[in-house]
Amino acid sequence: MKYFDHAASTPPHPEVIRTIAEVMQAHYGNPSSLHASGEAGFKLLKKAREVCAGTLGVQPSEIVFTSGATESNNMAIKGAALQYRSRGKHLVTSMIEHPSVYESFRQLEGFGFEVAFVPVQTNGTVDIETVMRTVREDTVLVSIMHVNNETGSIQPVAEIARELKQKYPRVLVHVDGVQGFGKVPLQLKDSGIDLYSLSAHKFRGPRGAGLLYVRKGIQLFPLLSGGGQESGVRSGTENVPAVVGMAKALRLAKEQEAEHVRNWRKVRERLVEGIASLPELELNSPAEGAPHIVHFSFPGMKPEVVLHCLEEEGLEVSTKSACSSKTSEPSRVLLAMGKSMETAQSGIRISLGDEHTSEDADLLIEALTKAVKRLSGLKGGLK
Ligand code: PLP
Repeated sequence: MKYFDHAASTPPHPEVIRTIAEVMQAHYGNPSSLHASGEAGFKLLKKAREVCAGTLGVQPSEIVFTSGATESNNMAIKGAALQYRSRGKHLVTSMIEHPSVYESFRQLEGFGFEVAFVPVQTNGTVDIETVMRTVREDTVLVSIMHVNNETGSIQPVAEIARELKQKYPRVLVHVDGVQGFGKVPLQLKDSGIDLYSLSAHKFRGPRGAGLLYVRKGIQLFPLLSGGGQESGVRSGTENVPAVVGMAKALRLAKEQEAEHVRNWRKVRERLVEGIASLPELELNSPAEGAPHIVHFSFPGMKPEVVLHCLEEEGLEVSTKSACSSKTSEPSRVLLAMGKSMETAQSGIRISLGDEHTSEDADLLIEALTKAVKRLSGLKGGLK
């Protein structure tokens, strides 16, 4: 099988697997314990924090380790809204956020917060002016993702952060960086971004590990109470092997970013060119989108049927995004872009990894061409 679902999860890097196995075997002491085994775990954690911070260009004290971006996003959004509720009850996000962001805001609405969900343009990007017009004096937090997980549309988060801080210095800015890290450069330091979420398994680290960058001076209301680990904001014994593995993967992804991006661009270009002429294919990814994602629809066709045709050819792709692929709901992201219901119900996502080449693009083009030929007679009957 050839795997083309790297936006859902990536194969862990061999060096990461080796590192995690070594740490699991040799260093099982609780990093909060005072004996030598505990001290060894603490040192590994400290080193991992330094590596993550150094890679992101921030301070080690600004890194909070989590179980992944779902937790980081919940921690940033609910933690900031609760901590700074005396400043106001108004929050701003976009209509195309990942469920871990979108549902966090929906939950806060139930607790009396007022949330503005900013629309996107037809190319899937939020308009900076619209965001600026939505923010008010009593806005506490603005959360906009860097790269959309379905279409790969790139959001102007650096510009938004800069303009926001000029006009509203007290407004906090959160960026869900999950699909952008290692794919689309973004500088955190002096950017105006206060909170930034990552998930290790999206850049060849382990599942179940992530981090939240919390700019110095910002307090978050802790969602997990307990032993006070991670500066009191995230209690619970740290997952040292996973965190050490994440730090390694983070560094490798950054070091190899330019090379990977060059390759992804080449493969993506070939793929887009090759499928563009397929009958009734609607490309949902913007031309200037992230280099690793190609998203399209065959309006009226059930995407699972196309997916299974590709699987018969040994190719694994995704419908929508992994977390929502088991629901029959239309894509909230595509609807927000003004796409039809039929288009929003028939999305297919191909996401590339480090190992892919132009030959892989050719395999996909061939298999998709074959699938379309086979299914075109059935179109309508498959709805
Ligand atoms: N944010 C985005 C943009 C994502 O793509 C994902 C995962 O698909 C997440 C957050 C959540 O990451 P995790 O499932 O690792 O917690």
